[in-house]
Amino acid sequence: MSIQTLSTASAMTQWAQVERASGRTIGFVPTMGYLHEGHASLMRLLRPRVDRLVVSIFVNPLQFAPHEDFDVYPRDPEGDLAICVREGVDAVFFPPPAGDPEGLYPLGFETRISVPALDHQLCSTSRPHFFTGVATVVYRLFRVVQCHVAAFGEKDYQQLAIIRRMVNDLGLDIDIVGGPIVREVDGLAMSSRNVYLSPGDRNRACSISRAIRAIEAAASGGLVDVETLVTIGRAALDVDSVDYLSIVDATTLQPTVRIDSECRVAIAAQLGNTRLIDNGPVRPPQRVVS
Ligand code: AMP
Repeated sequence: MSIQTLSTASAMTQWAQVERASGRTIGFVPTMGYLHEGHASLMRLLRPRVDRLVVSIFVNPLQFAPHEDFDVYPRDPEGDLAICVREGVDAVFFPPPAGDPEGLYPLGFETRISVPALDHQLCSTSRPHFFTGVATVVYRLFRVVQCHVAAFGEKDYQQLAIIRRMVNDLGLDIDIVGGPIVREVDGLAMSSRNVYLSPGDRNRACSISRAIRAIEAAASGGLVDVETLVTIGRAALDVDSVDYLSIVDATTLQPTVRIDSECRVAIAAQLGNTRLIDNGPVRPPQRVVS
């Protein structure tokens, strides 16, 4: 079967309904395009699990504040399509822009979905509308694509937690699969926004994953005091400003003072005009059983 490109919500849903009616399962990877290996890894994660694989490419205006990079967000539909073909994707959905009656947000679209319990910390502090925009677009996409399973990267850990909670709270019959963070060889988490970095900032950006590794190592070596771990992480960072460096409970995303359960270190930092995020697991030291 050759790859299908679908550019209206109704064409996408019709395609999905035919597949479902034939008893085939649909896997889905929502993206904002400018695809890289991180996105491809999610396609590879789902490909063997489903009969049909759908990727959406949509820079979602709802998750950008007016001063953010919506207009200049990198776009490369042809390159994206080539990656989808390579990864054996069956259909690529390119929703039309907001306001189009055939798109995700027809004129007059007012409804928003939010998950307040997970949306008052980390990225929400500096991007207060961000996760409402994410949850709303993902819900709309789920309705249109009619998937059985969808994959999201742990790179956006708070987003993954919010989507899982939304699916659970709204009783959506969709499996959510999380994929591990894909990194460049020097440790920088892959991101479509890395292309904005100047060569100097690109080098300094590695300090974000270095800080995460330093915290992980100190915690697995027995350090459980979060304040000390945060100090270690901050010392490793070489960035223009730190939006946050937080260690939170891995499930509730609430701040913690000691590592005595599975936690997550999450960092958002600014280099030039580019805001980068990354995260990693922080586990209590293993107890030795004698
Ligand atoms: P985006 O296009 O940035 O909205 O990302 C689309 C999906 O790809 C989201 O589920 C992201 O978490 C995931 N993703 C982005 N970068 C990476 C990465 N470096 N490793 C794994 N998944 C990623």
